[in-house]
Amino acid sequence: MAFPQQKSTLPFWRTQLDPLDTHRSTEKLPSEADIVIIGAGYSGASIVHHLLEKSKASGMSLSIAILEAREACSGATGRNGGHLKPDPYMRAAGALQKYGKEAAEEVASFEARQVKEIKDLVEKENIDCDFVVTRASDVCLYEDANQELKRGLDQLTKAGISTADGVFYSDSRTAEGVSGVKGAKGCFSYPAGHVWPYKLVLHLLSKAVSAGVNLQTNTPVTSVTPVGNGKWNVNTDRGSIKASTVIYASNAYTSSLLPEFKKAIVPVRGICSRIMTPKVDAPFLSNSYILRIAPGEYDYLIPRTDGSIVVGGARRDFFDKLDQWYNVTDDSQLIAPAANYFDNYMQRHFKGWEDSNAYTDKVWTGIMGYSSDGFPHIGEVPGKSGQLICAGFSGHGMPQIYLSAKAIADMVVEGKGVEQVDLPRVYRTSRERLESEGNVTLEGWAKVTRKAVPKL
Ligand SMILES: Cc1cc2nc3c(=O)[nH]c(=O)nc-3n(C[C@H](O)[C@H](O)[C@H](O)COP(=O)(O)OP(=O)(O)OC[C@H]3O[C@@H](n4cnc5c(N)ncnc54)[C@H](O)[C@@H]3O)c2cc1C
Repeated sequence: MAFPQQKSTLPFWRTQLDPLDTHRSTEKLPSEADIVIIGAGYSGASIVHHLLEKSKASGMSLSIAILEAREACSGATGRNGGHLKPDPYMRAAGALQKYGKEAAEEVASFEARQVKEIKDLVEKENIDCDFVVTRASDVCLYEDANQELKRGLDQLTKAGISTADGVFYSDSRTAEGVSGVKGAKGCFSYPAGHVWPYKLVLHLLSKAVSAGVNLQTNTPVTSVTPVGNGKWNVNTDRGSIKASTVIYASNAYTSSLLPEFKKAIVPVRGICSRIMTPKVDAPFLSNSYILRIAPGEYDYLIPRTDGSIVVGGARRDFFDKLDQWYNVTDDSQLIAPAANYFDNYMQRHFKGWEDSNAYTDKVWTGIMGYSSDGFPHIGEVPGKSGQLICAGFSGHGMPQIYLSAKAIADMVVEGKGVEQVDLPRVYRTSRERLESEGNVTLEGWAKVTRKAVPKL
């Protein structure tokens, strides 16, 4: 079963803990609530934020409880790269081919809008979370990736997909000079942001707790069972809460409570690091980065305002070893073959960093929820009236979650159907998606490693 494990590696983001980290609003669980949210990561915190905003606007008073298995924001959100990087072409190009132009536009613009949404939120609420608006440089170090991205971008431009317009392409003649990355064959840049995710989430949770939301950390939900009259019991070892609405913001761990999602959302372990340099005159990096190094191998990188650099990925050292990362829920261990991957990373890849003495300060792991078709599952759990899901962000939640959570709040507070809310159609959860046999992660792995798609 894929429940969160109690022990975990220490990410840089969780080195300055908020007083709410192990908060319990009441000694005992409330016996009833209108809404129970399972999970206190970016999804759970965004959902409660939008529920409170919407219920306040419509004069409703809702009792809400959040149950979190470990500490607040200790899942993927507390251990990610902090990269709020809307994808303007890859996912949209896939959607264009498979689902057509309208679906592609929805996917691309939904992600793109989230940078502005978070900028507005951070400014309005004066949130101390190191938020920066920048451009992401997507740098291809091998020709096939360069051509594939360019082909996708050209198709989107031709189809009139709005995000294609904001991409600036540098070919092999200028890519190295534009990006500062050694051996760059092509570079695509576009608007993006980065953030201290824990601080953003803890701000939203603090506001919710101040508004009367009952937050219970270190309280794993063990099951959700029907009690009649359309209500559900949310069960834990500390007791049960009866609720008419249950929202799963449990991402990678969803199938432990909803076994029907076993194939649809699979836990995948990722690894990330923080790199420091003692040199104050190390070359300045203003953009954030993706480095596409070889088939199946890519890293992401955000230069922070404190001079440190957060780098994740490291697939070179473990991608072929499925048992190290696929269907793995243990974030108490590093991915062993990649433990030293980040040493000399800046020296290896960035011009002018050779003598920087940059060194690895921290390495940690986290568990993502990869969906079998690459898109998250948002909406009512098929066949379970009153239960909703917001999960399965496939290692790319930062530019998808905030507005997905808003869609969930619209469904709950305004009683709208999933077709009526602002949400890409391919995000809607459905029985058909749950039963689909495809798996883009394993198919991609088989293509790169030239092995058969495994039956797991
Ligand atoms: C190493 C790494 C790097 C990443 N880098 C990036 C990046 O740079 N940009 C990006 O966009 N995305 C990145 N991601 C992915 C991103 O972090 C996720 O998509 C996003 O944080 C998901 O948020 P969430 O709230 O849905 O899930 P989580 O943050 O995982 O929150 C789910 C919560 O639910 C709780 N929970 C689960 N089951 C139960 C239960 N039974 N009872 C109670 N609580 C439960 C968990 O303990 C957890 O706290 C990265 C992920 C990892 C691991």
